[in-house]
Amino acid sequence: MNIKDLVNRVRANLGKKQELPNEAVLGFLRVLENLPAEELTCDEIYAQLDEYVEHEARNHDAAHLMPLIRDHLDLCPECCEEYEVLLDVVKKTDEK
Ligand SMILES: [Zn+2]
Repeated sequence: MNIKDLVNRVRANLGKKQELPNEAVLGFLRVLENLPAEELTCDEIYAQLDEYVEHEARNHDAAHLMPLIRDHLDLCPECCEEYEVLLDVVKKTDEK
């Protein structure tokens, strides 16, 4: 979907009386566009991180089972650090 087409459609719907600045329309559309495609937030990752680590610790293919988590960990150093700490804890717990 082309942003320019969308802007034109929004403008057409608004009618010619009401001028809307391009920036405002574009900003609004960007928000709409970004929402459905948005990746998991750190909170959502964190909520599933223990499950992911559990798989990892049992030598399951965690990256295959929970690819969204894997993707996020690759991109987010904070969650990756959290993951490593958790993995360490789980592995030590399993050794006992
Ligand atoms: Zn994160």
